[in-house]
Amino acid sequence: MADSSSFASAASPSGAHSPDVARALDATRDALAQAARRANRDPASVALIAVSKTQAADRIRPALTAGHRVFGENRVQEAQSKWPALRDATPDPVTLHLIGPLQTNKVREAVALFDVIQTVDRLRLAQALATEMERQDRRLPVLIQVNTGEEPQKAGVPPREAEAFVHQCRADLGLDVQGLMAIPPLDDAPAPHFALLREIARACGLPILSMGMSGDFETAVAFGATHVRLGTRLFGSRPQAPA
Ligand SMILES: *Cc1c(COP(=O)(O)O)cnc(C)c1O
Repeated sequence: MADSSSFASAASPSGAHSPDVARALDATRDALAQAARRANRDPASVALIAVSKTQAADRIRPALTAGHRVFGENRVQEAQSKWPALRDATPDPVTLHLIGPLQTNKVREAVALFDVIQTVDRLRLAQALATEMERQDRRLPVLIQVNTGEEPQKAGVPPREAEAFVHQCRADLGLDVQGLMAIPPLDDAPAPHFALLREIARACGLPILSMGMSGDFETAVAFGATHVRLGTRLFGSRPQAPA
């Protein structure tokens, strides 16, 4: 992949609190590769999802110019307002992951716009996705979100129900379930949550583990993350608080 940063975008608009995105990408790739090597893993086995939620197109363009092609957004409408134009201006395909909660009334737009849905967490949503993917003839890979901390306010299936839910999504609905995703509780050490997600994925025979954010991605890599989701580390602090 042509991902070496050309610093041609060094003149990108950068306010006092916005680090240069291309440089941050480079440094983050290095840190990710080092974390992989420390864990005796091939650096190529960990994908970097650049989380561009709340970032304006002007902040995203330098990452595209630097060769990055994998992005995450957490709101369907926001992604719809930014990505069609960004994709049109990009010479090769961009892979977009939906990493935020999905309402069933947004499923049609989500299936049309995104390439991976990481946040399947309830039967009604899984059914709506299966129906819509059939209708659009677009069978997207999906991940099941697991609420490893069993936090009442957080999305995700409870750990003890995850295996049965994965089976239901695959066998009954024909969804292409490829892995699991989790967001550990803010106040907990993340390692036990990553270990739990890995254990459930193993039990289900699932190869993909989406876990690890700016503050804990190195730990996530040590526990087998195949996809880390990094926002602030690449783009700086967000213009507004995440949902
Ligand atoms: C915002 C968000 C991220 C990125 O978080 P950072 O701490 O900014 O790296 C990752 N995953 C999900 C689900 C998010 O909503």
